[in-house]
Formats: sequence, structure tokens, C-alpha cells
Amino acid sequence: MESTFVSLCPLNSAAATEPEPLCIFGTGDLGRSLGQRLLQSGYRVVYGSRKPHSCGPLPPGTQAMSHSAAAQSAALVFICIHREHYNFLETLAPQLQGKVLVDVSNNLKKNLYPEANAEYLQRLVPGAHVVKAFNTLSAWTLQNGPSDANRQVYLCGNSAEAKQAVAETATKLGFTVLDRGSLCAARELEDFPLQLFPEWRLPLRIAVGLTAFFYFYLLIRIVIYTYVQKGDDISFRIMVSLANKVFPIVSLIMLSLCYLPGVIAAFLQLYRGTKYRRFPDWLDRWMLCRKQLGLLALAFAFLHVLYTLIIPQRYYVRNRIKHPVVLFIKIKENKTSAFDSALAWRSDSFLSTGILGFGLYVLLGITSLPSVSNALSWREFSFVQSKLGYLTLFFCTLHTYLYGWNKFLKPTSYPWYTLPGYLLCLIVPTVVLVLKFLLLLPCMDRSLTRIRQGWDRTNKVDDGEKSLLA
Ligand code: NAP
Repeated sequence: MESTFVSLCPLNSAAATEPEPLCIFGTGDLGRSLGQRLLQSGYRVVYGSRKPHSCGPLPPGTQAMSHSAAAQSAALVFICIHREHYNFLETLAPQLQGKVLVDVSNNLKKNLYPEANAEYLQRLVPGAHVVKAFNTLSAWTLQNGPSDANRQVYLCGNSAEAKQAVAETATKLGFTVLDRGSLCAARELEDFPLQLFPEWRLPLRIAVGLTAFFYFYLLIRIVIYTYVQKGDDISFRIMVSLANKVFPIVSLIMLSLCYLPGVIAAFLQLYRGTKYRRFPDWLDRWMLCRKQLGLLALAFAFLHVLYTLIIPQRYYVRNRIKHPVVLFIKIKENKTSAFDSALAWRSDSFLSTGILGFGLYVLLGITSLPSVSNALSWREFSFVQSKLGYLTLFFCTLHTYLYGWNKFLKPTSYPWYTLPGYLLCLIVPTVVLVLKFLLLLPCMDRSLTRIRQGWDRTNKVDDGEKSLLA
């Protein structure tokens, strides 16, 4: 394609007082928000509209005119129109010749059309330089300005000069530009806004699967077993007691699933003797969703804390306090036990490890927020997420061990030969902590550090040669 130099900033200082206008086709939501943002950043804006005299309120200081007149007054035109209405642009091809056309459009579904909207626009106006950009921002974001979470403008196009012109405008509006290459990448950019939490899918599935499994498992062990064996209906426990058993179980398993892939990766590197071989895809995918796994684990820990706090308000608990039948019978039979200091230790340690674990959990969650993590150096971030992360896992696992204490010795803990939920949920975190402990042993740690610094066991010949040369 012929490449024409596109300059939006006049070079001589006399002309610099009057900035060259930018044109926006379409006076809808996005057109108006973009116009307002451009005005605030010092640009002049003209609108191309079907009804220039009755197109509704526009940002003050802007002008609306016919498409053809507006196109002629600017070198860069934002097409803020739905793709379905693009066909009229074909008739404007002579006026749009050599201009930069910014395609901001999105579709309602993936693969709705055989070609990307931007490629279609390029086909309609072959003499223009089409750049796909701004489509991942909403009208709301444009109106309110970039925020930490919404700072990036992805763009792609075939003309380097046209992309440069759009990139300069986006930078002036306060956005960070990410060039995704030629116009072939347009479909990928158009699919971005259609994705619904793609990186959350796997963690959410795991969370839902674990919750459903443990709810059902505990329902059988606690509610159905009691009904079948003793004839007691304790189904009301489904709402709070069962939930407050399931949430900490899911939280602990998910937290350990955050750290398990890192440990597996370390063992894989030790086994292979190099860091230069790719991890299997499943491990890569798992590592990429650790943040989401951790945040969901934190959400479950929050639920556990909230459910624990409401326990004294439950009718069931208040009723038992009001009618301490069991205590009364025990006093009558003179069976009340003396103060058990070991039990007091266990109970206080259980509560204390729970509180410490939750405190660190919250700290991990806060540091994973982009606004906080951006303010940390890589070393600080990895200290919090790795070292404090393992400490959190340690406290939460200890909290669960203390909850179980010696209950596992009692035969009544195994109704229908099933393991208690807390024992099941201790498997993964215990494995992770033991493996991590092994990795911290000096012999393992030394080898792993060497591998991570680039040493390669498969390259022994090179090493030998190097030492001879040295
Ligand atoms: P909108 O509010 O419906 O505005 C579209 C504008 O297109 C209308 O105001 C109209 O302007 C013009 N138009 C309508 N029918 C037309 C036709 N037959 N021929 C020529 N022009 C016509 O839509 P929008 O929300 O601003 O979205 C515009 C584009 O931006 C879409 O492609 C959308 O996918 C994309 N986008 C929107 C957002 C968002 O948050 N809204 C975010 C990202 C991308 P005139 O009456 O002045 O001609």
C-alpha cells in the first residue's frame, strides 16, 4: 500500500496556535464522549453527521457538518458508526483519499462477518489508511479519562505513519498504546470486548466444582446420615453450618492450588536440569490463572469469616444457650470437667492462626490490585506473593489442623466410612508445603538457583569447554 506521511501537528510555530481539527463521523454515545475528551486534550473537533443541524447536544466548541465537508477538514477521521451502516462511506472514497480512518467498531458476536470490520472499511475506502483502535474502551471510560484499569489502547494497521498519528493522539489523551501489528490483527482486537472474564473461567469452574462436591459430600455425611441413623432432622444446618464448613475448605484448597503449579514447575526444572525448555501447556495455563485462583480463595475466606461472625445470632445457638439442658444434666450428674489447659491452648491457637492467616490473605489480595502492585518493585511484589503467600498457606493449614486436633482418632468422625471434610481439604496444602520445604533444602535450593540463573545440565560440553578456556 502507498504510504503517505500523515502529520497532525503543524511544524511551524505560527500555525501551532490553531491545532488541526480531528473529525468524528457519528454523533452517538462514543462520538460525543471521544469528542469531549479530544477537546479537553486541546484538539479541535468537527463532526460529520447525517443531520448536522439536528443531531442533539454536542460538546461545546465542536462543529457538526455533512460527512463530506467534515472529511475534507481533517486528516484523521474517527468512524464512530456501527459497521452495519458503513456502506455509505464508499461514496465518500474521494474525500477520504489519503486520510487516516480510525475504526472503533465492535460486533455483538464473534465471527458475525467473514472479515474484520476494519478490513471491510479498508475495502470500502482503499485509498485511506485504516487503523483499528479505541474499540476496547467504552464511551464511559473516554468521558471520564483513563484509569489504572483502563489505560491501554490497542491498535493495528498497515501504515506505520497512520498508526503513529493515532498513537500520538491516544498518548495525548492519556492512554498507553499497544501496537498489535498489521490490520490482520483487527479481528483479534474486535474480539477483545466480547470476552467474558476469559482468565476467570478455569478458576471459577474449580471453585464451583469444589463447592458443589463438598456441599453434597457434607450433606450426606452430616444431614442425611443423622436422619437415617438417628431420625433427627437437622436439615436447617444446610444454610449456615454446612456453608461455614464448605467455604473454608474451598478457600484452603484454592489457595494451595495457587502455589502448587510453582512447586511443580520447580521440580520439573530440577528434573530437566534447565529452565530453557517450555512447560507443558496445562502448567502454563494453570500458572497464568494463579491470581484469579487466589482472589477467589480470598472471597471464600471472607465468606467463612462473615459466617463465623454471625454464629452467635443464630436461633439454634441462642436456643441452646437459653436451654442448657446438656450442661444441666452434666452438673446434676457431677460430670463437669475441670479446666483443660491443653484444650485452651488448642482453641486459642486455632483462633490466632485463623486471624493471622486471614490478615495475610487480605494483604495478598490488596497487593494483587494493579494500582498497588504497580507501586511495588518486582522484588517487593514477589516477596509478598511468594514468601508471605507460603506463610499464609502455612497459617491457614495449621488453623485447619488445629480445628481437627484429635478428632480424627474418634470412630464417630467416620460416618459411613467417609473422611471428614477438613481431612480431605488438608491433602493438597500439606503436599504443597512439604514439597516447598524440600525445595528449601540447601542442596535443592542451590541447584534450582543455578538453573534459574541460566545453568543448563544438558549443555555440559559447553561448560567443560568454558572451564578449560578459563
Ligand atoms: P450510537 O450511539 O448508536 O451512535 C452511532 C451513530 O452512528 C449515530 O449517532 C449516527 O450519528 C450514526 N449513524 C446511525 N445510523 C447511520 C447510518 N445509517 N448511516 C450513517 N451514520 C449512521 O453508537 P455508539 O455507541 O456511539 O457506537 C458507535 C461505534 O463505536 C460502534 O461501532 C460501536 O461498536 C463502537 N463502540 C462503542 C462503544 C460504546 O461504549 N458506546 C465502545 C467501543 C466501541 P449521526 O446521526 O450523527 O449520523
